[in-house]
Amino acid sequence: MDYAILGGGALGLHAAYRLANAGHAVMVFEQETTAGGLASGFRVGDSWLEKFYHHVFKTDTTAIKLIAELDLSDRLEWSHPRTVCLINGKFQQLDSPTTLLKFAPLRIDERLRVAAVGALLKLTGSGLYEGKTAEAWLRRWMGKRAYDMVFAPLFGAKFGALRDQIALPWFWARFHDRTTYLGYLRGGFQLLYERLVERITQAGGKVLLGTRVESAQPLAGGRWEVRTSQGTWTFDRVISTMATRLTCRLIPALPEDYRQRYDWGQAYGAQCLILALDRQMTDSYWINPCDPGYPFTSLVEHTNYRPPSEYGGRHLLYLGNYRPVDDPLFKLSKEEVIAQFLPHLKRITPSFSEDWITESWLFQAPFAQPIVTTDYRQHIPPLRAPLNGLWVANMFQVYPHDRGQNYSFELAERLVKELEA
Ligand SMILES: Cc1cc2nc3c(=O)[nH]c(=O)nc-3n(C[C@H](O)[C@H](O)[C@H](O)COP(=O)(O)OP(=O)(O)OC[C@H]3O[C@@H](n4cnc5c(N)ncnc54)[C@H](O)[C@@H]3O)c2cc1C
Repeated sequence: MDYAILGGGALGLHAAYRLANAGHAVMVFEQETTAGGLASGFRVGDSWLEKFYHHVFKTDTTAIKLIAELDLSDRLEWSHPRTVCLINGKFQQLDSPTTLLKFAPLRIDERLRVAAVGALLKLTGSGLYEGKTAEAWLRRWMGKRAYDMVFAPLFGAKFGALRDQIALPWFWARFHDRTTYLGYLRGGFQLLYERLVERITQAGGKVLLGTRVESAQPLAGGRWEVRTSQGTWTFDRVISTMATRLTCRLIPALPEDYRQRYDWGQAYGAQCLILALDRQMTDSYWINPCDPGYPFTSLVEHTNYRPPSEYGGRHLLYLGNYRPVDDPLFKLSKEEVIAQFLPHLKRITPSFSEDWITESWLFQAPFAQPIVTTDYRQHIPPLRAPLNGLWVANMFQVYPHDRGQNYSFELAERLVKELEA
């Protein structure tokens, strides 16, 4: 078989690697000039730095196995960096059962109640929670004060106006799947994607970067034509790893009933402003601002996790946001975003000064966070599309898990099994 794979992120590259090793001809089309999609990086000093903050969890077993298979295990390093909530202007560590039991903003009975709910979510399957919203259930079982103090700001920051509609199984997965130990690939996750491209190429496949897919069409006789910014090719099969909405736009032959059911729902875009500072700003890796009024969802001081020496001595700070793609924030220039965020950095670290900033970068991506409402499950497309030779596999299908490289790798494996069956 010869395969066209639309999208050169975690999913597309892993599927291409498996198919090329199984003896198929593969061609991956990626619009960006770097492979890796949402997990891709750019050069800072001697390392790659992700455009959007990334780490893996101990439970990300498919990713860990793939890293080993690609001979990169010696670079996978684990640690337990500090995660805090910013409540009433103070950092309150909350990143393990022990720190929860010591979490001063809540009374001891409230902490025990949160701990009991956390244990329940760890020990049970997601099926129990179908059809319920996270907000109503957590308020009821964790208690209103704990929910309002810690979780409501997190849901608000991530999902904005849709915060009270999020499916409980999505929250279950965040609690169930995550570990306090975080893994990072020394040198950047980009190394994993570079290695995948290398192995695909060694197996005879092709990865065309900087090549934007414009359309894919079934031809008479059963083959497919893929038109791109760099030319037109034909294939036996097409795998689209792009968001379902984009897939529907680029494949006009998809029938109306498919579009009605699966070109559905909302996804937020992601934005990360990255600042290189000449000094450390805080003592924490991850800061969730739970106090009102912050214009960013999270502040991630990457060099409190990885040493600044990996980045030529730079201290690196991500300021992240999820918003609807038409949000005015996405239209601002980097300088305007910095100007908007600066006063809030001073709220966190009063001595912070603009002079500390030596470099800055702004990255944005549409279709970065699916909005997983209670009826989301009914709108997840099957892998096999209703057109002969077309397969759709993307990060919108990993429900109830949140997005994650691991789940894209896992879905790629499931897809290849189905293709080879
Ligand atoms: C802010 C943020 C933080 C995250 N943090 C983590 C984390 O800590 N750990 C973790 O494991 N995961 C994290 N993720 C999630 C992770 O990045 C994704 O789950 C994973 O990278 C998805 O891979 P994918 O291949 O399924 O999709 P994508 O990476 O979206 O790949 C799709 C590809 O299709 C390409 N494409 C789109 N349109 C076209 C076109 N017309 N022509 C050609 N190519 C096209 C895109 O450029 C992209 O490369 C995070 C994501 C974000 C946004």
